[in-house]
Amino acid sequence: MPSETIKLTAKFKLKEFSEELNNLFSTYREIVNYLITFAFENNITSFKRLKKETYKKLRGKYPQLPSHYLYTACQMATSIYKSYRKRKRKGKANGKPVFKKEVIMLDDHLFKLNLEKGIIKLSTPKGRTFFEFYPAKYHEKLRDWKVGQAWLIKTPKGVFINVVFSKEVEIGEPFTFVGVDLNENNVTLSLPNGEFVQIITHEREIRTGYFVKRRKIQKKLKTGKRRRELLEKYGERERNRLNDLYHKLANKIVELAEKYGGIALEDLTEIRDSIRYSAEMNGRLHRWSFRKLQSIIEYKAKLKGVKVVFVNPAHTSSLCPICGSKLSPNGHRVLKCSNCGFEADRDVVGSWNIRLKALKMWGVTVPPESQPMKMGGWKPTRYEINTLHTING
Ligand SMILES: [Zn+2]
Repeated sequence: MPSETIKLTAKFKLKEFSEELNNLFSTYREIVNYLITFAFENNITSFKRLKKETYKKLRGKYPQLPSHYLYTACQMATSIYKSYRKRKRKGKANGKPVFKKEVIMLDDHLFKLNLEKGIIKLSTPKGRTFFEFYPAKYHEKLRDWKVGQAWLIKTPKGVFINVVFSKEVEIGEPFTFVGVDLNENNVTLSLPNGEFVQIITHEREIRTGYFVKRRKIQKKLKTGKRRRELLEKYGERERNRLNDLYHKLANKIVELAEKYGGIALEDLTEIRDSIRYSAEMNGRLHRWSFRKLQSIIEYKAKLKGVKVVFVNPAHTSSLCPICGSKLSPNGHRVLKCSNCGFEADRDVVGSWNIRLKALKMWGVTVPPESQPMKMGGWKPTRYEINTLHTING
């Protein structure tokens, strides 16, 4: 069976940190900045060359520092300098590149993670040091995952360690696909048995609620620390709430798709049907949310051995899934085909076309969709995400 790698990043908060760790942050920043300047002055974009030309000098200057910090600092400096060059070419950067963040990149020589005991063992200039951390979300599920790179990050809220976990999973051949159309307030699924399922998410209400809250704060407090803190607090609450919603949604989608073996989503990396997204509030944020939700669906699906494919989103909401003619609006959110008389909700059309595209992409010959014409169109079965109770049908 073909296998795929799933990756996910978990964030752990350290229970406390020491003066020593503080010093490590500033030493590391010093080194990264030295390396960036060196790369900048000598126009070096290769990690190998940068390491070769600076290693001896840095080793001499920081003899106590475990050498792998120099490797990861070189990696960071190379990528920072490269992205600086890219921005510069577009006229978006001037002056010298500088690294101001409190971030330390770690490779597997520099730390060992003990999930069971909640301890990270870190190599420091003074030898191995232990730090306790608070459990992360979905902590137990990560036990049998492989630990990859990590980043130590110092924020006003404390020191965090972000760890990349990976796992090899076996993905079966899909024999068919469930088409999934993501919308701002619902997710619509087109099942291979001809049924449609719509899950009402209320995401728009959640967003609008927080939007109004932020507006009130901005009106009441014009500047200052309190304003920043409040905005940050509600921003975090909104993100957490949406994250929970996405996990719940993704679980349901994967549950419905599991027996069919495949899920089809729209490829949103380049949004062609931009009207569908930009007309709504906070277009940019929504694109971010769609990608976020997609990535949660993708990794949950892979964990269950379900294949995920991405299809070109062009025309998924404008062509008739039965005869391929152009659809025209016929009332609120309803589309009609003047050629064959097909008429349905645009979310039904979207998910249906996504499923058909995946079948074609996968080389499955698509038989003419010949479900008996239902009077009044194709109605999805509606569920509320909070209860997952059926609303109709
Ligand atoms: Zn038609």
